[in-house]
Amino acid sequence: MMVASRKIRLIMELRRAGIADTEVLSAIERIPRDAFTPESFRHQAYENMAIPIGQGQTLSQPQVVALMTQALRASRRTKVLEVGTGSGYQAAVLSRLCRRVYTIERFKELLKTAEARFLALRLHNITARHGDGWKGWREQAPFDRIIVTAAASSIPGALVDQLAEGGLMVLPVGKTSRDQALLRLTRTPEGVKEEHLTDVRFVPLVSGVPGQVIRGQEAQEEGNDQLQRRGDVA
Ligand code: SAH
Repeated sequence: MMVASRKIRLIMELRRAGIADTEVLSAIERIPRDAFTPESFRHQAYENMAIPIGQGQTLSQPQVVALMTQALRASRRTKVLEVGTGSGYQAAVLSRLCRRVYTIERFKELLKTAEARFLALRLHNITARHGDGWKGWREQAPFDRIIVTAAASSIPGALVDQLAEGGLMVLPVGKTSRDQALLRLTRTPEGVKEEHLTDVRFVPLVSGVPGQVIRGQEAQEEGNDQLQRRGDVA
């Protein structure tokens, strides 16, 4: 099957799954997902499935990307922070809907590959940085929207602090991979409103960056439960 017809099939599948926002669907249609997958998975780029991208991480399922993007209610005027650049695909989709996207990734290798993709596709309104997303991006705060694409064990306080008043944050929260909820937080003058959107399964939001020493212990890579706690890294 040709890429164009695979893409149409995927868009139809997303519509059936309840994605009704035509701007979101059109952004997904315009961003070539095959440019964000490793070579060996390119033929599956338009399947509604998550794809391994190395370092034990995954490019999320298109349905999850679509759902989170829709829930974020972004517009041309919004400034967005993404935590967990990964392949760069979610940031690329957002870049078609927002004014500017700031994205943070803890693996340097993933970040470099994603940045090369942004450049090749001329997505000039994305700024990417290596670092620990638990802490957000203080220099660029406040953000109108924040999206976290790895599961936090609890809501990261620094991210709530960096959300503009009236701003929205969409993030998976859960202590184990079997117990994660996709939440939407709204920052209001009265406090933070919390909505439960659906149950999801994400890789964990890990504290610190690879190689950094956390409380006298080397930051191990993915799957290390001890590092899935709140971002209290110095
Ligand atoms: N949005 C990505 C999904 C990548 S999976 C995409 O479209 O491909 C989640 C990513 O979050 C992984 O790349 C992982 O390394 C990253 N991550 C996990 N904890 C992090 C942290 N504390 N700071 C920054 N990135 C983190």
